[in-house]
Amino acid sequence: MKKPAILIVDDDPQVLAAITHDLRQEFRSDYRILSVSSGPEALTTLDELRTRSEPLALVLADQRMPEVEGVEVLTHALALFPDTKRALLTAYADTAAAIRAINSAQLDYYLLKPWDPPEQLLYPVLHDLLASWQATYRPRFAGLRLIGYQWSPLSHELKDFLSGYLVGYQWLDIEKDAEAATLLTTTAFTADELPVVICPDGRVVARPEKTDLARHLGLLVTAQQELYDVVVIGAGPAGLAAAVYGASEGLKTLIIERQTPGGQAGASSRIENYLGFPTGLSGAELAHRAWSQATRLGAEFMAPAEVLDLCVRDGYKVLTLSDGTEVRARAVVLTPGVSYRKLDAPGLDRLSGAGVYYGAARTEARSCAGQPVYIVGGGNSAGQAAMYLATYAARVFLIIRGATLEASMSAYLITQISQTPNIELVPHTQLREACGGQSLEAVVVQRDGQAPEKHPARALFIFIGAKPSTEWICQLAICDPKGFLLTGRDLVTDPRYKESWKKDREPYLLETCVPGLFAAGDGRAGAMARVASAVGEGSMAIKFVHQYLDE
Ligand SMILES: Cc1cc2nc3c(=O)[nH]c(=O)nc-3n(C[C@H](O)[C@H](O)[C@H](O)COP(=O)(O)OP(=O)(O)OC[C@H]3O[C@@H](n4cnc5c(N)ncnc54)[C@H](O)[C@@H]3O)c2cc1C
Repeated sequence: MKKPAILIVDDDPQVLAAITHDLRQEFRSDYRILSVSSGPEALTTLDELRTRSEPLALVLADQRMPEVEGVEVLTHALALFPDTKRALLTAYADTAAAIRAINSAQLDYYLLKPWDPPEQLLYPVLHDLLASWQATYRPRFAGLRLIGYQWSPLSHELKDFLSGYLVGYQWLDIEKDAEAATLLTTTAFTADELPVVICPDGRVVARPEKTDLARHLGLLVTAQQELYDVVVIGAGPAGLAAAVYGASEGLKTLIIERQTPGGQAGASSRIENYLGFPTGLSGAELAHRAWSQATRLGAEFMAPAEVLDLCVRDGYKVLTLSDGTEVRARAVVLTPGVSYRKLDAPGLDRLSGAGVYYGAARTEARSCAGQPVYIVGGGNSAGQAAMYLATYAARVFLIIRGATLEASMSAYLITQISQTPNIELVPHTQLREACGGQSLEAVVVQRDGQAPEKHPARALFIFIGAKPSTEWICQLAICDPKGFLLTGRDLVTDPRYKESWKKDREPYLLETCVPGLFAAGDGRAGAMARVASAVGEGSMAIKFVHQYLDE
């Protein structure tokens, strides 16, 4: 972010040099001193500063200039920068013009030439003006800015993507923030083309693909190597652990993620039971730490990229990605985890991303400030979301089908929820409908044995369990009836084992029915569905990768 500017305008070269020198002496540590030698040049400079949205603290213009007079420069400055302080540099004879300008250009001050000594006649006045400007000046956010409609599913996706990578960004709602409309006029786009992303380097993209943002974040969007020792599919806790161990143990490692690092854990607002973090930490922070650790150790991170197919060709595992490209590896660790189950009720699909969210409590919490929100689900993920949302929302209604949370939620969360006055548990109840035009406005819920009731709702968060993200691999690797990948002993006892496994040795603990293809974390049959166990399995998988590569 550039320092705020002070613009000096004078057509007399000697006066201009003198005042520029004096201002640099006194103000250059906090301000950029720009000096121009004519009225037209001043008008152009003002236009340019406005186009670049650069802050301007003060304009100091000489009154007597041919072509464009000082007052005219200050009037133009007033139109473009209403908060900027304006001072006229006058000779005694120009006092009348200066007094007139107090109204026309809303002049803040006029200075009489000469101003020697500046310590008495110049600096005190300018310090006063600058202090008063600073009092109302709000520095422009220096990072990435996202302008959009609150209820646009694409805006929601982009917000989710950015926060998944812990990118500091400013969200500007075109319908609420006056700044959003002003900022949009500085781009080549209109409100019909939202969402628009303005990058810190000035690049502007409308309706960007996530790969555009990924490039901006310095992520790989194409693989750099011909062949990897190990490719890890999925950057949840299991995949990130595998990448850390793979890279730290000298394997040429690539990790591929279709969304953002952290997987389910990334959606957790507070993980309180992960070893070594006594006060807990957010899933996004854990993921970010692990991602930095893996890349620092040399793992390549490719995202967003989804693996759609895997086959074995000439002894190598060949992965086909969503953009049609292929990646080759000697061994693969599958860590695809699970994804949220969809709830089936009228209105949910239509309003998804526009008030109805699957596991997006962190991104949307702020927009729920002071409003009622509903959560469906009684597991730990629903409990964590309730606690997080309760800090913003007026009331949080937790809808469960059963009578209590005891069977499905950890005791520490049940205690926290019971001690939070604005969370209300709604037992024996089901969601029947999501209602609203462009965004969610109300939910219809029904208590067992009673008539359905409609209640206003600003947002609905759904956490009703998950299914393994393994559809694409189930043809090649043996899965259980629910789609979880079978490995090790579980595989050996499966009736399909003998037909598929052709090696003399038995599969390693985390090996699937394809030698050199391992599975770890929540997508594996028998996994514990915990961050720590996923991390443990991901790390263990690399041990087996070594054994396989040594064969
Ligand atoms: C809201 C919430 C809170 C939780 N809180 C806790 C807690 O406090 N403590 C605890 O121990 N556990 C908690 N859990 C459970 C824990 O997060 C999971 O057990 C853990 O994340 C599993 O890790 P994983 O790596 O196996 O899978 P996941 O976390 O599911 O990650 C899988 C990743 O693989 C990616 N992927 C899938 N398929 C592909 C593909 N084809 N190509 C590319 N990428 C792909 C996905 O996008 C995802 O990022 C919580 C879960 C949720 C949802």
